Amino acid sequence: MNQAVQNIDDALKELVNNYVNHLPAKLVEIQWLLKTVIKEKLWQEQAAKDCTRYIHNLAGSGATFGFEHISTHAKNLEKLLNKFIEDKKCPNSEEESTIIKLYNNLKNSVTELKKSEPEPKSKSNKPEFAERIQQHDSIKNSLSQTTHSVEILSDSITEANIIAKQLQTFGYLVREHKNLESLYAILNSQPAEVVIADIQFFNKNNQRYTENAAIDWHNTNLILLSNANDIHTRLEAIHAGARFFIQKPVDTNILVQKIDSIYSPAGEDPFRILIVDDSANLSEYFALTLQGAGMNPMIINNPLKIDQALIDHNPDLILMDMYMPQCTGMELAQVIRQQDAYVSVPIVYLSAETRTEKQIEAMKLGADDFLTKPIQPDHLISAVSSRVKRYRILRSLMVRDSLTGLLNHTSIKERLEAEIARAYRDKQPLSFAMVDIDNFKSINDRYGHPIGDRVIVSLSQLLRQRLRRSDSVGRYGGEEFGIILPNTSEKNAIQAMETIRNLFASIVQQYMDDTFSVTFSCGIASSEDFDSASRLTEAADKALYEAKRQGKNRVVTNKNADGY
Ligand code: GH3
Ligand code: MG
Ligand code: MG
Repeated sequence: MNQAVQNIDDALKELVNNYVNHLPAKLVEIQWLLKTVIKEKLWQEQAAKDCTRYIHNLAGSGATFGFEHISTHAKNLEKLLNKFIEDKKCPNSEEESTIIKLYNNLKNSVTELKKSEPEPKSKSNKPEFAERIQQHDSIKNSLSQTTHSVEILSDSITEANIIAKQLQTFGYLVREHKNLESLYAILNSQPAEVVIADIQFFNKNNQRYTENAAIDWHNTNLILLSNANDIHTRLEAIHAGARFFIQKPVDTNILVQKIDSIYSPAGEDPFRILIVDDSANLSEYFALTLQGAGMNPMIINNPLKIDQALIDHNPDLILMDMYMPQCTGMELAQVIRQQDAYVSVPIVYLSAETRTEKQIEAMKLGADDFLTKPIQPDHLISAVSSRVKRYRILRSLMVRDSLTGLLNHTSIKERLEAEIARAYRDKQPLSFAMVDIDNFKSINDRYGHPIGDRVIVSLSQLLRQRLRRSDSVGRYGGEEFGIILPNTSEKNAIQAMETIRNLFASIVQQYMDDTFSVTFSCGIASSEDFDSASRLTEAADKALYEAKRQGKNRVVTNKNADGY
């Protein structure tokens, strides 16, 4: 078992102990409310409802923590009490004794448990749950910033240099090799993940290659380049173990796409799940279960905190309890659905409610599915992940631009609204940049629309790679991009965009045997000066216009544009 799994396992054990220790107090509460319901001869609606809610919680949580009999007894009692709530009447004396009997069953199952359970461990100095989640996040972030290396093997220094320079622009660490021996020297000490080479080195007749066949190419992704593109050459590449084959002259965009797909630098973001449940214990249990499966859960125990949680966590799925003291899951689902940005996020009830008619009623009000507590961890994980996968595909069709995979116009605007709200709340600056490719019309006119498209793709790749994970990049229009830089002052935004501007200008774009380069202009505005999304966009647009007016290929802020 690796350390992360071990930690989660320990945390789960601690949760179970904690749960068991709190059971007696819960029983006292239930007993007290039951007394009110039974002894007062007037119908005590609120007490009955509160009492049922406590019992309902036990019905859902018992078996979740491995105590099947607690769930069974609680369910029996809950069922009976629900009948009185529906009829709005006091139990008669015969019914009273049934209630007492069922309560005693429940109580006994808890007492038995306390006898056989080991004493809880003394509280360790393990980090609290929130911190553990954060640790998980910081590990993830540090991983995404690793520099990946690429080996290039070519006997043409010029060719190797051109490719190396281009790949460096996209953030790769490149080592050049003139011959197999130099490459093998590296491969003998450490496995290389990506090797780009001319196919002649891997030819069957190449003595040096066959002699060194002992080298383990297993984990190496070989990208072979060749002047020829016929079936024999391509087969030869397959025999040499090439994962990709690219014809020369090498189109950097294609090469970068292939290497990106190997390293997938952004990776797939862990699924973001928002758990809304008034039971701290249960919600933490679900969170740990999902976290153990590599997901990124967030918990709110008070459903009234939903708005902030939606903004902060931007969930791929909401796991919702049905009965909570502040409001019901159904009411909350309706509140969520009334906001355009969350119309399609899956809402899945996770409740001990087993009455089909109640489940159907709840589903009508905007939810997508119903899972019943208790639920086995495997079932929870698979139910959640299959829905998130489908949601992400649908969402990406809805919010992503098909050519570049960046956020589309509507989505980047929505994201800007949310990010500005967050920036104001956190008292952090946010910058917004608008980028427009220079003289793009002439590129289309000269090389054709498909080459124009490729230039757009190469800029989007560069933006995605060079910006932080927390930044959002959208295709604002044809050859125009919108970039949200949270926690970024205007000064830092200028720096970031200047770097990207220089890198983009240095990319050698390929058109048959011809090469050319392209530039862009950029306008920046900061939330320190403009307080709404529309004003910020307008100011960045104005700055972009000024950048064009000043001669293009530059970054201008709204301050420089003022007075124009
Ligand atoms: P400026 O430097 O002032 O920005 O000049 P420009 O030529 O870049 O700007 P203009 O707005 O005059 O032209 C933009 C061109 O971009 C016009 C349009 O045909 C082209 N375009 C828009 N969307 C796409 C696309 O998806 N693919 C391609 N290839 N071209 C596009
Ligand atoms: Mg343009
Ligand atoms: Mg334009």
